[in-house]
Amino acid sequence: MENLLSSKYLDVEVTGTIKYSEELKKVTFSADLQHIDYHPGSSIIFRASDRELRHYTPYNFAEAAGTFEVMFHLHGKGPGSDLASRLLPGDRLKISAPGGKKLYEPKADYHYFFGDETSLSFYFALMEEIHTNGQLCRGVLELNESNLNIPEDLGFDVKTVSRSPENPASTAIAVLQADLAAIPGLLRQAVFYLTGNVASVQAFRKVLRSLGVASKSIKLQGYWAEGSVGL
Ligand SMILES: Cc1cc2nc3c(=O)[nH]c(=O)nc-3n(C[C@H](O)[C@H](O)[C@H](O)COP(=O)(O)OP(=O)(O)OC[C@H]3O[C@@H](n4cnc5c(N)ncnc54)[C@H](O)[C@@H]3O)c2cc1C
Repeated sequence: MENLLSSKYLDVEVTGTIKYSEELKKVTFSADLQHIDYHPGSSIIFRASDRELRHYTPYNFAEAAGTFEVMFHLHGKGPGSDLASRLLPGDRLKISAPGGKKLYEPKADYHYFFGDETSLSFYFALMEEIHTNGQLCRGVLELNESNLNIPEDLGFDVKTVSRSPENPASTAIAVLQADLAAIPGLLRQAVFYLTGNVASVQAFRKVLRSLGVASKSIKLQGYWAEGSVGL
């Protein structure tokens, strides 16, 4: 199939890797990206093993330079995470061209994010666009303890809270409520992007809906679910 649909696949080479913690690894890829259709927040598919495909999100997607990056969450429980752990400069892979849902709303003046480690690439990709378009943004990320400072270390102004699996998204929802109290109009003006753990994004969405946020202002994509493989 990959040979038949060669225009839909890219040959990429790993040109650099950086570990920010035991669980977060940024990989830089180079490829011929001329004529590749890209939208911020699009996803690419990696072959994690002979039979398994996994989704990831490119950011810093530079057509002319022919480079992009992916922030991988290394959770150690599946072939996608294992592949990402092993990647080294010089490795060559075949991946799908970017595709998937267009979540970014270019006309919105205010953007609000909720996610986790798996959402960092999506967040970085949209932030580039939001800054370029002079728009406002806020957000909260639910992370494991060892990753709480990483967004700030990377220069991103986003709140982080510890993950609470027994009560998904509860701490993040408290941050949302504080933000709503502090910023009049946020609820009415913002588009909300909810990505990452399915139980968490569903809990967050439920609160937004109960506060009267319209479905069209909530962009939701579950990236992984406890006990499920390869969403
Ligand atoms: C559109 C889209 C874009 C995505 N972009 C990114 C991205 O840029 N970076 C990124 O890291 N991930 C991203 N993901 C999430 C990633 O595809 C999933 O985490 C995927 O399940 C990883 O595959 P795996 O083979 O490692 O684990 P799987 O074989 O799918 O799952 C094995 C076990 O691990 C658990 N598991 C899966 N993911 C996690 C996790 N993150 N933390 C803890 N347990 C987990 C599952 O519940 C399951 O029990 C994206 C997903 C989608 C749908």
